[in-house]
Amino acid sequence: MHKTGNVVVEGVAIGKIQFLNADYEEQIKRYMTGTEEEEKKRYQEAHTLAKDDLDSLLEDRDSLSENEAEIIEAHQLMIDDITFEDAILGYIEQKMSAPSAVLKAVDDFKAMFEEIDDEYLRERQKDIVDVGNRLLRKLLHMKEFSVVGADVILCAKDIEPSIMAGLSEKQVKAILLGSGSKTSHTVIIAKAKGFVTMVGVELDETEIADGDDIIVDAVKGEIILKPSEEELSRYKEQVQKQEEQRKYLMGKAKQPAVTTDGKEILVSANISRPTDMEKAVEYGCHGVGLYRTEFLFMESAQLPDEEKQVAAYRSVAEQAGGNLCVIRTLDIGGDKEIPYMGLEKDENPFLGYRAIRLCLDRKEDIYKPQLRALLRASAYGNIRIMIPLVTCIDELREAKALIEEIKAELDEKNIAYKKDIQVGIMVETAAASLIADIFAKEADFFSIGTNDLTQYTMSVDRGNKKVSYLYSTFNPAVLRSIRHIIACGREAGIMVGMCGEAASDPMMIPLLLAFGLNEFSMSASAILRARKMVTEYSVEELQAVADKAMSFATTAEVEDYMRKFVEKITG
Ligand code: PEP
Ligand code: MG
Repeated sequence: MHKTGNVVVEGVAIGKIQFLNADYEEQIKRYMTGTEEEEKKRYQEAHTLAKDDLDSLLEDRDSLSENEAEIIEAHQLMIDDITFEDAILGYIEQKMSAPSAVLKAVDDFKAMFEEIDDEYLRERQKDIVDVGNRLLRKLLHMKEFSVVGADVILCAKDIEPSIMAGLSEKQVKAILLGSGSKTSHTVIIAKAKGFVTMVGVELDETEIADGDDIIVDAVKGEIILKPSEEELSRYKEQVQKQEEQRKYLMGKAKQPAVTTDGKEILVSANISRPTDMEKAVEYGCHGVGLYRTEFLFMESAQLPDEEKQVAAYRSVAEQAGGNLCVIRTLDIGGDKEIPYMGLEKDENPFLGYRAIRLCLDRKEDIYKPQLRALLRASAYGNIRIMIPLVTCIDELREAKALIEEIKAELDEKNIAYKKDIQVGIMVETAAASLIADIFAKEADFFSIGTNDLTQYTMSVDRGNKKVSYLYSTFNPAVLRSIRHIIACGREAGIMVGMCGEAASDPMMIPLLLAFGLNEFSMSASAILRARKMVTEYSVEELQAVADKAMSFATTAEVEDYMRKFVEKITG
C-alpha cells in the first residue's frame, strides 16, 4: 500500500516502523484522584522525577549537539517556571487531579503562544507541551519512550523536541510526522541529525503495526507499507546508491567547485544559528553566504546585548575558518516579529516597517550595538556586513556612515576589527534591482534575495497560497530582474551572490551560471548536490540555453524548457 507526505529532508530509507503514541487522555480517565494534599504531593514527586530525567539527559552532553543541549536547558527552565507551577497548583486547589491540572496549565500557556503572530515563536508552544507530557508520564507511571532495535522508521503525530534530541542516528533511519512545519524545533533537530524526514503523513495502526517493514521514499514523497520482495530489493539498491553517492560527494566536499570551462564558483551556506555551521562545514561549504541574525533576536527574551552578539558572530566567523562570512543585519518585520519589541501591526507588513527601515529608525538601541558587535567580531574572521531590503541609495549611505562612525569609536578605544570590512546589500526589492547599476558603485557586493525579489516583482505575498501560482523565479519578469542585477554587479566588478531559495534549484543553477553568478548560498543539506551540478556545466555552453529560456513569454514555458534540459543532462 502506498501513502504520500511532504518531503522535508530528501532521501530513501528502509526499515521497521515504530509508532510513538502516548494516549495520555485514556490514561487520565483511569487515574484515581486523591485529596488536594495528595495531588500536590504527587505533582511534586513527578516534578522531581521529570527534572532528574532532564538533568541526566544533559549529563551525557557529548552525545548532544549544542542545539539539542539548548533545548533541554530550555525545558529545565520551563519545568521550574514559577507561573507554570502556580497555575498547576492553582488548578489542583480548584479540585482538579494533578494530571488534569498539568494538562490545563499547558493549554493556558499554549493559548498564550498561539496569540503570537510569528510562526517560529508559535512553534515554541511545542516545548511547553513537551515539558507537560514529561510530567504526565511520571504522574501516570508511563514508561519513557525508547527506540527498539536498529533501522527504525519512527512515526508519530508529532514528536517532542526533547525526544527527537535523544534519538540516535545509529538506530533511526527516517522520521514520519503527521504534523510539523519546516520551522518547528522538532524538524530543525531532524534536519540537523540528517534523518530522512516527511511531514503531513497519516498512517493508521490498523494498516501497519510496530515492527512491520516500511519504505520511505522522501524523493518522490511516497511511503510504501509492507513492501513486496521486489519493492524491497529495488529500494535496497537505491539506498546503496544513495550511500555511494553521499560518500562520493563527501569525498569531493573540500574541493573547489569549478565549471568544465574553468570558472570557480563559491557554494556557501545559509545559516540561522552558529550551531548550523557544524553540518555546513562537514558538507564543505565555501563559507557563509547568509547568516540570518534575526533568529538570535527572536530566540531571546529581550534584545541580545552586544557581548552576546559578538560571541555568536565570532563563533560563525571562526567556524568558517577564514572563508567568506556574510552576516546580514537584523531583518525583522514582514513575517518575522519579535514580541518583546512591541511593534505596532503594519497594515501591509511586507511593505512596511521592516529590516533596514526599522534599524535606521532604532539606531541607538538596535542598530549601533549590532554594527559594533559585527565590527568587533570581524577581528576573528572574514566577516562581511550585508544590509537587507534596501530600496534607495540613501539607506546604504546612512548605514555605511554609521559603520564609519563606529569604526572611529573603536579606533579611539584601540579595539580590533577588520579595517577593510566589506559592506554589501541584499538585492531583493524591485527598486534595488532597477537601480542596481547605481548600487553597484557604492556596495561592495550583492546577494540576490529571490524569496523577496519574487514577491516584490510579482506583487505576490510570498506566503499566500491563493496567489502562489504567480510566485515563481522562472517568471520572465523575475528572470530579467535577476539577469540585470548580475550584469550590473559584474560590470562594476563586485561579487554577485544569491541567497534566496532559487540558488539551490537544479533548474535554476544553469541559468544563474550563464548569467554570471559568482556565489550560490543555500541550506547545508543542498550544498553537495549543487556543488556537483556546478562542476557538470560549461558557462560558455550554457549561454545558448539561457538565451532560449529568456525568449519565452510565460513561466510554464521556461520551466518546461529548463526541466527538459536538466533531465537530458542528468539522464
Ligand atoms: C530572500 O528574500 O531571498 C532572503 C534570502 O531573505 P529572507 O528569506 O530571510 O527574507
Ligand atoms: Mg529577504
